[in-house]
Amino acid sequence: MGTILEDYTKKFGASQAMFERASKVAPGGVHHDVRIQNPFPIFMDHGLGCRKWDIQGNEFIDMGCGHGSLILGHSNPVIIKAVTDEAQKFMHPADPTELDVRWAELVHECTKWTELARFVLSGTEADHLAFRVARAHTGKDVIAKFRGHFHGWHDYNMIEYLPPYEFPMSGGIPKAIAQTMRACKTNDLDAVEAALKQGDVAGFVLEPDGALGGTVPTSVELLKGIRELCTKYGVVLIFDEVITGFRFAPGGATEWFGVTPDIACYAKAICGGVPGGAAVAGKAEFMSDIAVRADADWNRKKRARHMGTFSANVLAAAGGIATLEILKDGKVQDHAAKMADLLKVGFNNAIREAGAAGVLYGTRSTLRLILGDDLPKIYDPVEFPKAVEIDRLLTNVKEPLGTNLYCAQMLEGIDILGKTHGWTNAAWTEADVNEAVARWSRALHRVIAEGYLSGKA
Ligand code: PMP
Repeated sequence: MGTILEDYTKKFGASQAMFERASKVAPGGVHHDVRIQNPFPIFMDHGLGCRKWDIQGNEFIDMGCGHGSLILGHSNPVIIKAVTDEAQKFMHPADPTELDVRWAELVHECTKWTELARFVLSGTEADHLAFRVARAHTGKDVIAKFRGHFHGWHDYNMIEYLPPYEFPMSGGIPKAIAQTMRACKTNDLDAVEAALKQGDVAGFVLEPDGALGGTVPTSVELLKGIRELCTKYGVVLIFDEVITGFRFAPGGATEWFGVTPDIACYAKAICGGVPGGAAVAGKAEFMSDIAVRADADWNRKKRARHMGTFSANVLAAAGGIATLEILKDGKVQDHAAKMADLLKVGFNNAIREAGAAGVLYGTRSTLRLILGDDLPKIYDPVEFPKAVEIDRLLTNVKEPLGTNLYCAQMLEGIDILGKTHGWTNAAWTEADVNEAVARWSRALHRVIAEGYLSGKA
């Protein structure tokens, strides 16, 4: 046995060769920043249930869960049948179909509070359209938000996203964009009121479970406070339910926390991970600003326009209908949350027994991993995030621990997105949980043994 990095390079040689090939034809060799991985990412071949296999046939327990989208697991036969049956009929009629109608009906059956839905292609598009609806509805320009909350990769969300906040998260963001956004200190209700009372705010957007997919948890009191402030100042409240929607409960975080926004953004679980399905849905008062009226002047000047070649495409719609029919009674969501709770117990026992600092935490079926010698030794997943500073939570695992943890996890056959973000789904069993805990404990002991984290190796 060599070092973690030596063993990684040795075991995943075909991925290294593929990465060299990829780097000749794609910037950085990947097509999503979260897939950037030192020394190289693993190239996958196929998946089934809660597992996937790389191009050399190595098997992984998949906590990455298709960036949280695969609420029914990989290659669910019901979804495969729905999508392939539809593909036999046509790929893209470019006219409305009954599928659009049924999918939207199911959005309403699951969420209950939403009245109208408009399908888009991705979470980023959903957030972008939601911002437009809020601006069109109020005639105001500014979207207020919390620092650290992710709302897609479009220009608006690159403003004051992660520290240092004075620099946008990307090059190429026009300075003028900053004037259309107002970022508030994370989870600070006074900051929200200060932002809203300036009178120029169209909408307030947040991830209801907290920054970066629940990495910095919110509270019901905070959500209620924001709801009241938005009503008080006439600001459209937008919940970004891209991760939480249909996952926390049929009605997503809105149902789980019992606080209702005006409009919400959905993606990922809305079509069980079939690419190209997402939606903005909400109260008719706001959503009807997208519909054409018998008023040419209003249509031309005030309507919130939306198009998109592949919007409500039949493959995503077929997958979406099959998925939401299964999700609407809430059983899958409860099962996935139970599996996540068991994983938290297993991982946190392993961290405690090793005497290391960190925790696996998260709401319902989301899982967030943080480790580091600078962290408190609190192994309670609810208490831990309350005791740690927000910017430290957002940093997750620092280098060089991060790279070595990722490689050790992959060597042991456990894939956690970006090494720290995980989700469970319908496919997990208690046997999978036990195996995941055993594999991950071995990875933990390897990073301790090589001195990247203090503890008992
Ligand atoms: N909002 C949230 C809360 C997300 O987690 C994500 C994706 N991780 C997005 C928006 C963007 O979604 P997409 O990647 O589908 O564009």
